[in-house]
Amino acid sequence: MGKKPFIVGNWKMNLTLSEGIEFAKSLKNSLHGINEILCGICPSFVFLKDICKVLEGSHICVGAQNVHSEKNGAYTGEISALMVKEAGCTHVLIGHSERRHLFGEIDSFINAKIKTALSVNLKPIFCIGETLKEREEGRTEYVVEKQLKDGLLGIDNNHVEGLVIAYEPVWAIGTGKTASPEQANEVHSFIRGFLTDNYGKVIANSVYIQYGGSVKPENTAELISQPEIDGLLVGGASIKLESFLKIIDAASIQ
Ligand code: PEP
Repeated sequence: MGKKPFIVGNWKMNLTLSEGIEFAKSLKNSLHGINEILCGICPSFVFLKDICKVLEGSHICVGAQNVHSEKNGAYTGEISALMVKEAGCTHVLIGHSERRHLFGEIDSFINAKIKTALSVNLKPIFCIGETLKEREEGRTEYVVEKQLKDGLLGIDNNHVEGLVIAYEPVWAIGTGKTASPEQANEVHSFIRGFLTDNYGKVIANSVYIQYGGSVKPENTAELISQPEIDGLLVGGASIKLESFLKIIDAASIQ
């Protein structure tokens, strides 16, 4: 699609603050002068401010792994979109499958979070994907379409333009099972078709559709060379600098 691949690492609940800072410093040095690729990391909330400081002046963006749907209030233990924005983040993961399946997040809550993130100029990385059961029952397209419809309900065209959507089949996350490049591309094409039907071709083509699910250095080239895969959301393989750099390297030479 002629876009620079957008590779994002989701650290989940991993690394210590000092490990995170060391990682960010080395990533910044390693990517200095490399412009063929867009790159981001999503550290723990408590590292965000420090990591953003380390990455100042680089092109590497920082995302939070979640935010609450309300702007502020009596929500003990929650973090607002404005708080992560103030910490220096530009992006936020919303609707990650671990949030959906371990913490019971539903589409309407995810939709509210996307709206709140957009209201403070944070760019959502909107995650969707089917479970193994749903795939085996032949319901992948139905599930993905419902997540898209409900998640994007009431969101203006100008906010859909340039949005990042991560297609992450639940059965491929953290399991070592990757969707084949063709399987992933097929769902990405379906997502692009949904966007074209609902927002027009120009907006649909401006959306970054990332693939996520057991991405590793060895499968990066095949995945990223698929015409509808604009980037990758990487979990396990993003917490070791060496493998994350190999993924970035493999994606940038495509
Ligand atoms: C993720 O957390 O978004 C992810 C895709 O994890 P993994 O790469 O470990 O499957």
